[in-house]
Amino acid sequence: MENVPIPECSTNDVKIKITHTAICGTDLHIYKWDEWSQRTINTPIITGHEFVGIVDDVGPGVTHYKPGDRVSGEGHITCGYCRNCRAGKRHLCHQTIGIGINRDGAFAEYLVIPESNVWPIHDEIPSKIAAFFDPYGNAVHTALAFEMVAEDVLITGAGPIGIMAVAICNYVGARHVVITDVNDYRLELARKMGASKTINVKYHKISDAFEELNMSVGFDVGLEMSGNPDAFKDMLTNMYHGGKIAMLGLLPESTKINWDNIIFKGLNVKGIYGREMYESWYKMTQMLRSGLDISKVLTHTISVDDFQEGFDIMESRNCGKVVLKW
Ligand code: NAD
Ligand code: ZN
Repeated sequence: MENVPIPECSTNDVKIKITHTAICGTDLHIYKWDEWSQRTINTPIITGHEFVGIVDDVGPGVTHYKPGDRVSGEGHITCGYCRNCRAGKRHLCHQTIGIGINRDGAFAEYLVIPESNVWPIHDEIPSKIAAFFDPYGNAVHTALAFEMVAEDVLITGAGPIGIMAVAICNYVGARHVVITDVNDYRLELARKMGASKTINVKYHKISDAFEELNMSVGFDVGLEMSGNPDAFKDMLTNMYHGGKIAMLGLLPESTKINWDNIIFKGLNVKGIYGREMYESWYKMTQMLRSGLDISKVLTHTISVDDFQEGFDIMESRNCGKVVLKW
């Protein structure tokens, strides 16, 4: 924690006074300064990309926001001119820049982002929830990738994103939502969030649950949210023929799978990056305004002065979302 200059607002920018931030797994990687961080992050930089705050100032070209508005924002800044950006598919921009990764982010009193990245927060949504709209948006993007009305859904990985995905799958009408992890604390959170069945894969096989769930052949939809190769392999063996998998977890390049599971089962596998701009954000807001409850994923709210404690909790993994109040 140190003093830095307050960022300036240029023509089309919005300056936000940060009130709440949340710690992402990515922030933990940077905090530990692992091999990925050393390769990716140019210092000095302000990290953090999960935030909510109050508009403090706007550039002269800004038309839709004014000081006092409560806002969050999309942390992927896209070029606006490539084929995908111009087709309205900005999540597929090949020149995306990440706040808190490639440019200054939200772990500071002030953040400046382009107006087009700002998202208004509706009065009904508390700031401590809006603080983690970014990963909630990952969960929404992944869970809405395939239709799941009356389908049996398998989620691998009960991290904060997997836990939020449980509630979303139920909201959109899945039949069973089964989630796996190796951490009982997180599986318990997923159960509270409404999972039909939680499975600790250290002790139990996924297929052992089929009888109890009155399932015969396998899952119709899979959401890979662990980034763990064993979890992905588990998912592939437990999918029904013609099933669909949305892949959010970041798997290592060395991941080996039995391709027969994809080819002979005719699986449809889709990669998911970030949030759809801004269709995910629209659905995120409207689902919360119409009864979706993700509040149980928030397990720790602490003062930013105790940020060290926040990172320690994240490192222990016995947590859902950790929110810092500024
Ligand atoms: P997280 O690391 O907190 O959660 C992953 C969970 O997977 C952990 O609880 C871990 O215990 C569990 N796990 C480990 N081994 C497992 C196994 N064999 N079977 C089942 N579960 C197992 O991460 P998160 O913040 O919830 O994010 C989920 C994943 O999505 C991470 O891999 C993250 O890097 C990735 N991610 C991707 C994007 C994207 O745009 N594609 C965005 C955000 C996060
Ligand atoms: Zn682009």
